[in-house]
Amino acid sequence: MEMPELRLRSRRCRATGVRPNSHLARRVGIEVSKGVVVNYHLRTSHPDVFAAGDIAEHRGLLYGSWAAARYQGSIAGMNAAGLGVEFGGLPRSNPLKVLGLDLVSMGQVEPEDGSYMVLEEEYDIAYYRFVFHDSRLVGAVFVGDASAAAGARKHIEQRTDFSKQLRQSVPAHQFAWGL
Ligand SMILES: Cc1cc2nc3c(=O)[nH]c(=O)nc-3n(C[C@H](O)[C@H](O)[C@H](O)COP(=O)(O)OP(=O)(O)OC[C@H]3O[C@@H](n4cnc5c(N)ncnc54)[C@H](O)[C@@H]3O)c2cc1C
Repeated sequence: MEMPELRLRSRRCRATGVRPNSHLARRVGIEVSKGVVVNYHLRTSHPDVFAAGDIAEHRGLLYGSWAAARYQGSIAGMNAAGLGVEFGGLPRSNPLKVLGLDLVSMGQVEPEDGSYMVLEEEYDIAYYRFVFHDSRLVGAVFVGDASAAAGARKHIEQRTDFSKQLRQSVPAHQFAWGL
């Protein structure tokens, strides 16, 4: 895929990010690592305190996205009300617009070892990449056509078994359109 040349010269770029403000938690003795450490119920090291969103570090991960914050907030709220709801993690997903192209990366996009399988293709003006583990989709990258991103996300969360499609050697663009 040809990418237009990026000319910076005298242009200024500014970027911002998400950094948890954990000062208050530290001061009251709640465990803090990169963020406020929470367990599967989003409970902090203090049994009466729950954390969700940008501040919460779950299994070493800070999500830094609005959707994750909202989802975690609902689970933390339910647990604070006495329900035993578990947060099992979310596939990390980053939708961006790069040089006018839609780009979405979610979940695990690099295989860890030979037990993973990668299905990828440049097709027309788009690039599709799918990473499977034990025939289950664990990650995906879309460049230029992200219309199947929501479907991919759903299948990652539901741990859908794609062994049949993988046996049929479906090209990546067709796999994307079938999601
Ligand atoms: C510039 C920018 C662009 C972004 N764009 C996107 C995007 O396109 N898509 C996406 O998914 N996410 C985006 N994010 C990330 C998203 O905004 C956050 O992940 C989300 O808002 C997290 O929600 P939160 O409730 O955890 O934290 P926040 O939304 O930060 O809410 C925390 C609240 O707590 C308040 N607070 C802090 N300390 C105290 C205190 N001591 N006492 C009382 N109140 C306090 C703060 O004032 C704030 O209102 C963006 C973030 C930034 C900075």
